[in-house]
Amino acid sequence: MKRSLLLLLSCFLLGCAKLSPPCAPYELAATPPVYFVILDYGHGGFDCGATGMDTGVKESDLNLLVGERVARALEDRGCFVLRTRTDADALGATKRDDMAYRGAILCTDGADCTVSIHMNKFSDRSVKGPMCYYQAGAGEGKALADCVIEAVCLSLGRDPRPANPGNNFVTRLPAVPSVLVECGFLSNPEDERNLRDPAYQQKLADGIAEGILQYLEQP
Ligand SMILES: [Zn+2]
Repeated sequence: MKRSLLLLLSCFLLGCAKLSPPCAPYELAATPPVYFVILDYGHGGFDCGATGMDTGVKESDLNLLVGERVARALEDRGCFVLRTRTDADALGATKRDDMAYRGAILCTDGADCTVSIHMNKFSDRSVKGPMCYYQAGAGEGKALADCVIEAVCLSLGRDPRPANPGNNFVTRLPAVPSVLVECGFLSNPEDERNLRDPAYQQKLADGIAEGILQYLEQP
């Protein structure tokens, strides 16, 4: 009995050895990530941010949709992307907790830059178009913002507009170049319509990703 079992096992092992391909040389990941980018999708959960004046669309949902398109565009180009959130939920039960978690992720060691995605709203409904904010006084932040707004305007076929200095938690906190992109105005009917359109979201995202890479690829 024992002998036949042994025979059976030997045949099985021999069979496996025959079927197994020869050992492939150990390989690390094909190519290491080119850059490490942190993407922050603004708001979420109890805090939906701005809402569309015509459709009631939530800023938090649009931030996630556009942000994920940016993430995929960057990953397709070999970047490692860390997101502050991956679903509709907030990062904490209160605004304070949410911002604390968000800030901790934005300050992760080793990142090359951080980009926060938001949608705008203003009392004058004629104001429209994308904007890109950097922390006032931050030279590298401005350089990143210049690249991003230029690439976004080009991708959307809009006239170029300058980046804007500002003072925001998400651009002030990280030690690396950080910008906040306001993709458009949910108070403007044309922007609101465009921002809900997947094709427009993709153009916007391609522009943001292109601007980030143009900045990072500068010598
Ligand atoms: Zn916002």
